[in-house]
Amino acid sequence: MGKILAIANQKGGVGKTTTSVNLGACLAYIGKRVLLVDTDPQGNATSGIGIEKAEVDQCIYDVLVDDVEAKDVIKQTSVENLYVIPATIQLAGAEIELVPTISREVRLKRALEEVRDQFDYIIIDCPPSLGLLTLNALTASDSVLIPVQCEYYALEGLSQLLSTVRLVQKHLNQDLKIEGVLLTMLDARTNLGIQVIEEVKKYFQDKVYKTIIPRNVRLSEAPSHGEPIITYDSKSRGAEVYLDLAKEVVSNG
Ligand code: ADP
Ligand code: MG
Repeated sequence: MGKILAIANQKGGVGKTTTSVNLGACLAYIGKRVLLVDTDPQGNATSGIGIEKAEVDQCIYDVLVDDVEAKDVIKQTSVENLYVIPATIQLAGAEIELVPTISREVRLKRALEEVRDQFDYIIIDCPPSLGLLTLNALTASDSVLIPVQCEYYALEGLSQLLSTVRLVQKHLNQDLKIEGVLLTMLDARTNLGIQVIEEVKKYFQDKVYKTIIPRNVRLSEAPSHGEPIITYDSKSRGAEVYLDLAKEVVSNG
């Protein structure tokens, strides 16, 4: 049975998609079978992994809204062992279209249950909001990985995310755990980064990953080539750290 991980933080630009794509690709690189699920209407994980959005006929929208089976929308990527359920801008409508539907929060969970045994890890890239799409992701997941950008106000907004996690635990998914907190985009040249690390560690303690993701230009370039860092530039610092993270995720069980 694959482990299902939601990569969530309602703040935009904190590294959710970068982490989803590159953690997924690095897990695949070390031999795990991985399914990346894009639940952001922006579809950045979809294009970042090399899927041309204009050529996607069915996406996660069809699974959530029209009961299409997950297996029918899974696409192979250019990375061995890595598969994706893409998202297109069509998904933007789902947030509203799902509101009056039956069991609107458990649709992703039910869909992924059908394919779960075919993968070691299912990684869900969440949109930057705490709406129905993120609720579906949290309800479907075993645990949530929270990327936190190393900047001022890093912890701002996290209490809102954590209270959403508690609500989901209470009403929708009592087994949901916090997988870990990942510090991202550290600029090692500033003291601010060090202060943020200390602050986040004080708050989340042993939940903070040992691996810290630095700012790395290669990580920001890779998506425009439709490749994860591990194939785009396997010798880069970005590839090294996401590989470290993949190993840490595996060793945490
Ligand atoms: P989110 O999905 O949370 O909105 P992204 O993963 O899309 O965040 O990251 C926001 C922007 O920052 C993107 O342009 C991405 O390429 C860039 N980025 C993310 N992580 C890094 C990093 N470690 N180093 C440099 N650029 C990064
Ligand atoms: Mg994103």
